[in-house]
Amino acid sequence: EILLKNVYKSYKDTPVIENLNLEIKEGERLVLLGPSGCGKSTILRMIAGLETISSGELYLNGENATNMQSGHRNIAMVFQNYALYPNMTVSENITFGLKASKIDKEEVNRRLEKVLNMLDLKKYKDRLPKELSGGQRQRVALARSVVKRSNYFLLDEPLSNLDVTLRHNARKQLIKIHEMYKHTFVYVTHDQVEAMTIGHRIALLNEGRIQMIDTPEKVYNYPSNVFTASFIGNPK
Ligand code: ATP
Ligand code: MG
Repeated sequence: EILLKNVYKSYKDTPVIENLNLEIKEGERLVLLGPSGCGKSTILRMIAGLETISSGELYLNGENATNMQSGHRNIAMVFQNYALYPNMTVSENITFGLKASKIDKEEVNRRLEKVLNMLDLKKYKDRLPKELSGGQRQRVALARSVVKRSNYFLLDEPLSNLDVTLRHNARKQLIKIHEMYKHTFVYVTHDQVEAMTIGHRIALLNEGRIQMIDTPEKVYNYPSNVFTASFIGNPK
């Protein structure tokens, strides 16, 4: 469970997140949806510990994590512009983090095999990133996060570089991954359709504030304010 309590964030004197209260339940897939610049990445980065919280608190599974070191949070994050190691093969890229955390070799290989199959990467496992398409690289970045088996899985527009068909397939794969590992899953996007397919619940943000948070059906059919209605709601 991820709990944000009265979280406020400013860069210098400019407030970006105001009085944010948000609970993401254990095993839930929550989507943060909203226009460019509304604060989605900032929220993920605060949860991951890559950005400080100006005031308020963050709890991870009941433990106050507001000032906890990023490396101690048991979080895997996939970034908007995922960076692979250019001189490592696909397999090496995927397992690098595991080897560093001293998981034994057989277990590393088991996890690698599983994720290569799941994300359809087996035939590319010995290639270098520069020998892959954009979509294949994005799947490697996903695989690298999946093998960590973290409690929390944070994804910041991980499919933004894919074409429509690849996106569609990748969404299905993501849901499959989630159903297999049941991590607490926070997914950032500015795409309404993506939000509807992926989220158990959607938190719609504008200018650093939650406008509405509910199931895709409720947000779509019963928008509780004008912003929600115009951004996602049923125009009827
Ligand atoms: P996008 O959909 O474009 O990725 P976003 O919702 O992820 O947008 P954020 O990256 O969280 O938006 O940024 C929220 C606001 O904070 C923006 O106005 C942005 O300009 C500002 N901002 C982000 N990072 C910094 C920073 N390091 N210093 C100052 N301002 C920042
Ligand atoms: Mg962003």
